[in-house]
Amino acid sequence: MSHDLENLYQQVILDHARKRSGFGLSDAALVRHHELNPTCGDEITVGIAVADDGTITPLGWEGQGCSISMASASTMAELCAGRDAAEVRELIAAFRTRDDTEPPEELEDAVAFQGVSKFVMRIKCAMLAWVALEACLNMAAPEASTA
Ligand code: ZN
Repeated sequence: MSHDLENLYQQVILDHARKRSGFGLSDAALVRHHELNPTCGDEITVGIAVADDGTITPLGWEGQGCSISMASASTMAELCAGRDAAEVRELIAAFRTRDDTEPPEELEDAVAFQGVSKFVMRIKCAMLAWVALEACLNMAAPEASTA
């Protein structure tokens, strides 16, 4: 990865760590899952509801931790809120995939975390919100898991 790209990714992470898009759990977000990353001390609770048409709304989260875990949750909320559950599963899979190919465009700001993925210690920080979202999906829309 070029140095410029790495700097850009770093800026995206810093911006989202401040921004915390989707922070807050509304009463409507009935399906909730709490994830803890003991190696770093991050914790995140994701709350969602799946509408009749299969879209995930609302999608919110609360928690505390390092800037990577907070920024990753922020990009996750921006990217996934209001989307179809099956589509969100594909995004989670794309986020989890790490190789040397071009970062998947559909991840938008979340591609920034492909840059931290080489630091093994930080992978759990970046994955935390996404793992919690996946657990919520498994509870809320289990029929989509076989698709
Ligand atoms: Zn962390």
